[in-house]
Amino acid sequence: MNDHQPGKPLVEVRDAARWFDVSAPWLERVLARKPRTMLRAVDGVSFTINRGETLALVGESGCGKSTIARLLVGLYPLTRGEIQIDGESITELNGPKGPSLRRRLQMIFQDPYASLNPRWRVGRIIAEPLKAHTKMSPAEQDARVDELLKQVGLDPADKSRYPHQFSGGQRQRISIARALAVRPEFLVCDEPTSALDVSVQAQVLNIMKDLQRELGLTYLFISHNLAVVHHVADRVGVMYLGRIVEIAHRDELFKNPRHPYTRMLLSAIPDIEGHGRPRTPVAGEVPNPLNPPSGCTFHPRCPQARPLCKETTPQPVRIGVTEVACHAVEHSWTSESDA
Ligand code: SF4
Repeated sequence: MNDHQPGKPLVEVRDAARWFDVSAPWLERVLARKPRTMLRAVDGVSFTINRGETLALVGESGCGKSTIARLLVGLYPLTRGEIQIDGESITELNGPKGPSLRRRLQMIFQDPYASLNPRWRVGRIIAEPLKAHTKMSPAEQDARVDELLKQVGLDPADKSRYPHQFSGGQRQRISIARALAVRPEFLVCDEPTSALDVSVQAQVLNIMKDLQRELGLTYLFISHNLAVVHHVADRVGVMYLGRIVEIAHRDELFKNPRHPYTRMLLSAIPDIEGHGRPRTPVAGEVPNPLNPPSGCTFHPRCPQARPLCKETTPQPVRIGVTEVACHAVEHSWTSESDA
């Protein structure tokens, strides 16, 4: 799915796919005459992100959003497709241009404690990327660590303490400081606040927004929490079983959701935009991704499903500023029209 924006985007993802081979061991497979089993975690995802913009990807767990985060920073190779950062393919991450490209994109993980070395003092943790990617002297690194700690609202004196001496929110600020050390342009944020108390989440999100304004950062923000997404995103992509089913500007998506799955997700949360939508739980379970339904993979849960939905995968179509992959939207089905 492509969203057309004026100007050259910083991030371009085209038909990205990541399949995992989850087959039984070879001998067992041969004896039982079983074919290989592929988990299509991401299967044909396209989007762009403009400079200074935040694109959020939302969806239930297992929809493929964290796999996309890892594809973007080169932690997984692509099975198919192409990802470019400012015109450079991320396949270059392992080539001669790797170090300079790697500096430009950084990742913030969900669990700050797991991503910080517990045996290192905070100063060493934040200085590590400076050692790896710059020629700064120890004194320059020290000054940069102080600057970064101040930027994320911590005290430079905190650099001599260990991660366990900080709260969850402070640890995530340390992770952000470390990610910013080499002055990246693009941050991939995988559920950066979901391990934090609700009261602390807003503080961390506000720091991220302030830093974005100050430093001109571009974010891909992964979350299952639509309230968080509403707070941070400029545009939102909704994922279901490895595909983006709807992508639109945030306000349009929250005011006028078009895909039945987006409507289902929005109806399960408090009425953020005040449109009076009734609050209803998300119905049904996400199908087994190893055996996805035919056609539109959402059809077993969709109140608008018709026979065509079981047979044919809907392709993305543009309706105003929204791109959506749904036969009902494409063919303007109404509840009264013939199936
Ligand atoms: Fe529902 Fe059919 Fe649209 Fe899929 S294509 S979301 S099953 S109406």
